Amino acid sequence: MSFLTIPKKKITVNLEVFQDIPRNEKPKPTTISIEVDPTKAWPDSMRVAVSYLAAKNAMFGDYEAFKDFEFQFAACKYIDRLITIYANQLDKDGDPWKIMGYCTAGPKAVIDEPPYSICPRCGTSLWGQPSGNDNKWLIDSYKNNPDPVYCLKCGQRFKYDDAGRLAYTAVANSEKQIRRIKHELKAIQPKLATVD
Ligand SMILES: [Zn+2]
Repeated sequence: MSFLTIPKKKITVNLEVFQDIPRNEKPKPTTISIEVDPTKAWPDSMRVAVSYLAAKNAMFGDYEAFKDFEFQFAACKYIDRLITIYANQLDKDGDPWKIMGYCTAGPKAVIDEPPYSICPRCGTSLWGQPSGNDNKWLIDSYKNNPDPVYCLKCGQRFKYDDAGRLAYTAVANSEKQIRRIKHELKAIQPKLATVD
């Protein structure tokens, strides 16, 4: 079955880099890419978390500073060292404790039931957004990877219950209620009247 072998995933994030570019020159690329194993939360989820914080908060003053970050991040032998050096780029307060806490945060239940679930931290759809009435793509995406270990955008780990099912919290919104009602209508069976 295809979902038993989940390939490595390439994560690409775009960073803010100030470039003083002469008129006829194109800006240099400012994306960084890493390959992560989606089934291995330790330590890959932490690398994803650092890349997410960098994409959100970092503003490199020049291209060399950015290239240096890219190099250190790709090497990433010691995450505490990386966080220490780049605390000011990863967090607005430059607080390494806070960044470490973010990267090592405990598993959380996702929001909404699969395959409509979203990450409780960054709000990304785990299996993609349903498009129109055609949800086949979404269902296939879910079938290919029904048990995600962590968010590939922000690195948040996901919680599983004792039976090994992905934990989720319900949200009250009209779209979800409509889905539930449709499901319930299908499930309702006529009951026999009880006879005394
Ligand atoms: Zn996320």
